Amino acid sequence: MLNITLDAALTLYFSFYIGGIFLVWLLFSQRRPKWLHAHENIKIWQCSICAFIYLHRDTPLSRCPRCSSYNELARSERGSQ
Ligand SMILES: [Zn+2]
Repeated sequence: MLNITLDAALTLYFSFYIGGIFLVWLLFSQRRPKWLHAHENIKIWQCSICAFIYLHRDTPLSRCPRCSSYNELARSERGSQ
């Protein structure tokens, strides 16, 4: 049978525990999740027909989710990029 003191067993247990947490942190800190990238180019749009305010990607045209009309990006927003 393996002869080991309580101190050594506790040290081994906690070092593996902390090492595991460190490895998981290292793995997840290397890559950013996709949902973080998805919100980088989101703009606030206001429909010119029904005045509904919604979020959409930074594209020249977007479709209103309420009335389905197409909206053009305002000139002031285009110039600010
Ligand atoms: Zn609309």
